[in-house]
This record gives sequence, structure tokens and C-alpha cells, in this order.
Amino acid sequence: MKSTKKLLSIALTLFVAGQLHAPAEAWASPPGKNIVAIKKVNVVGTAPGQKRLSRKRTVIVEDGLIVEVGKAKRVEIPANATIIDGRKKYLLPGLADMHVHLYFLRSLPDMTPEDAYTLLLANGITTIHDMAGFDELFAWRRDLDNGKVIGPRLFFTSPMVRDDTVTGVVDAENRVRDWVARGYESIKIHTPIDEAVFRRVSEVARELVVPVVGHAARPGIAFSVSLDEGMRMIAHAEELLWVQDFESVSDLDAAIAGVAQNVGALVSSDAFLTTTVVVEDVFTKTAGDATFAEQLASPLLAYFPPSLRRAWEFDNPNRSGAAPVSIHQKVLDSHLATVREMRRLAATDRILVGTDGGGPDLVLLGFSIRDELALLVKAGLSPREVIRAATYSPAAFLGTDAVAGSVEAGKQADLLLVDRNPLKRIERLQEISGVMVRGHWLGADQLDERLAKLAAKFE
Ligand SMILES: [Zn+2]
Repeated sequence: MKSTKKLLSIALTLFVAGQLHAPAEAWASPPGKNIVAIKKVNVVGTAPGQKRLSRKRTVIVEDGLIVEVGKAKRVEIPANATIIDGRKKYLLPGLADMHVHLYFLRSLPDMTPEDAYTLLLANGITTIHDMAGFDELFAWRRDLDNGKVIGPRLFFTSPMVRDDTVTGVVDAENRVRDWVARGYESIKIHTPIDEAVFRRVSEVARELVVPVVGHAARPGIAFSVSLDEGMRMIAHAEELLWVQDFESVSDLDAAIAGVAQNVGALVSSDAFLTTTVVVEDVFTKTAGDATFAEQLASPLLAYFPPSLRRAWEFDNPNRSGAAPVSIHQKVLDSHLATVREMRRLAATDRILVGTDGGGPDLVLLGFSIRDELALLVKAGLSPREVIRAATYSPAAFLGTDAVAGSVEAGKQADLLLVDRNPLKRIERLQEISGVMVRGHWLGADQLDERLAKLAAKFE
């Protein structure tokens, strides 16, 4: 597993580096280079060994790459640089949402990928990881990488492997080989999945040096099987509860009591855990008629097509036979306890922020990261730990940490500038002064304008 990780890391680093312009040579910048200087800004540390906060720094960005970060007094700003005033503001890497879904766009002709990117960028998200890949994503990523469309870095898994997407072991193996040959970089496990299929997929993935990610294999399969087969990322905190295969609500308490042991097993493995606790929070909020109506009345729904809003309304999850609010609350508390247990075991660097945005009803792509981040603080992480789980740790997982995940020279200029110190209150990540992606700066006014256009389109 270790060597797999290493190879993947090298492959991804080369892949990502290949998308960048050559690193800038020192200061004789030829005319025509796109140079931006963010002046006198407080830089939030996210990488291991980086200071928690470095005050009054000037950050020089050249053609999408951070080329210098230094004390404002000492950094010489090139004459042709565009200046961004960073005084009293806080700069950190753009956020990563490590569990999103863009497939809903395929059935919504009135919403484009670019519209979806607006929702993400407006929330400070400059990297996304789609957890149920499909072939259009290759073209969408090409458009992003060659600058045709402004949007986040796009990573994605293969389509889902589960009982109803493959006909058996041989079919699953063939699909995995085909996906990897066509450029998919990881294999997504969904459930229910047959144990023999899961084991063969894991074996082939190891041979092809691609990570396996997603749901813990279930039902009827011990969690240790998923970990022993080398799953690289468990895609939801809730998996540590559901993998216990209990049938009825009366067994819920016993299952919740078993979660801590699963966290211990996960921490002993190499796997990362993506959080997505906001999903159960949305389920909790939609489990009662009044709160469901409240969710549907959210002003944020203005940024989504009316057809989607109508579908959500029709899907009303509390219509019949659904679990009461109290059960949802108990399940949510268990997921938060899962995160807290990761911290108790000193494994916060294996937590990745993800929302499942664009997947379940009313888990709003982009905006749902606000609640996710707040819930992780509620679970017991410090704002600094949460910020790392949304910046550096995703890069470490993706193997891109040489070029992403912190505000340091040599890294991609994917940045988030906020008005006040987010290390004190995580909600301050929403006080966005501007976002930079691939060196392209979008000030708060431009982000607002993009959102307003989107709302006008869906009016
Ligand atoms: Zn998902």
C-alpha cells in the first residue's frame, strides 16, 4: 500500500505540474507575464511546519503560480504587478470539497458546469473531487485546465461499482481496467456490493496503482475487509455506523456504541475519512414539515433551477415512513462523535472536508460547505484543524501537496482572501474578499455579480 501511495503521489504531482507554466525565474519578469501582488496580508499556515499565522506578508503570483511569500518590507513588487490590498485581511489556500456530485447537471439543460463552478467559487472552493465520475467530466476538466472556463481544479473517481452497476466479478474487473485505461484516477465503491466483487476490484486496482475510495463494502462484510484491501478513502463519516449492518432502530444504540472501534481501525490503516456530516444535518432539518418548508424557502435556492426545486419539494422525505427528527438527531450526533474520536486519536490530518453537495436533495452544491465546516467545529475540531482538512490534507490525499494545499512559493495560486481571522471563528471563511483560481482573481463584487446573473437566469 505504501508504494502504491508513493507512485500515485508521483504520478499526480507530475500530472498537475504539467498543467502549470514553468516555474518563474527570479525577478527579471519579461513584459506580458500576468503578475499579481497581494500586499501586507496575514497568511494562514496549513502545511506541516508552517507558522499558524504569518503577519504582514506580501505574496507574489506569476502566471498562476505563487513565486514569493515574504515579509512585506522585504518583498520587491514588480512594476507591472496588479496590486491587491491585503491589509488586515487573511489569506489561505482555496477550500477543497472532497465529495461533490456534478451528475445532476446532466439532467438539467438550463444549468451549465460553469454555473455550478460559480456556486463553488462564491463559497471559496477552488478544488473539487467528484465521487461518481462520468465521461463528460474529462471534457469539463479540459475546459477548466486550458482556461476556457473559470472554475475549480476538478478531480473525480470512476463511475460507481455496486451490485446493480456490474454483473459480477469478471464484468467489474473489465470495467475497472477500461476506466483506468481511459484516465479515471480512482475507483468508487458504492453499496450494496458483493464481497467477491469488492475483493477483485481492490486487487485489480492495486495492480493498476489506482486508489479505491467510497463506501465501506457492505452489507455482511466486516469493516476490516475494506481496510485490509487497502481502501484509501472512506467517503462519509456515516460509513463507520452503517457498516455495522443493523436492521432496525432498536439496534441503533448498540451500533452507535460500535463506531469508536471502527474509528480506531480506520486510524490504524492508511485510509482518509471524508466527513459529509452536513447530509444528516439536512436530513434532520427536513424531517419535520415546518423545517422542511423552511429549507425549501431558503434564499440560496434562487441559485438553482426551478425544476430542481420542484423535484426536491415533490421528494418531501418526511411524507411517509421516514425516521422522526429525534432519530436523525441521534445519528447526526454519532457522526459528529466519529469526527471527535478521530481527533482524540490524533488523526485530524486524515480528515477531509466533503459535503456530498449536488448529491442528496437540498445538500446545496457550494453553499453546503458552510454548514459542513461549522459542524466540524461543533464536533470538536479547532478552526485550524478544520481549515487544514479543507486545504492541506486534501492535497496530501490527492498527492498534489508539492503544488497545492498551502500559501507557499512554488504552489498553485488557488487562494481565498477573507476579511477577518478564520482561526478564531470558522464562519469568517464566508466573509470573502476574493478568490483566486489558477492565478485568476475574482473579487467579492465579481463573485456577487456572477451569483446575481445566475439568480436572474433562474428567476
Ligand atoms: Zn456522494
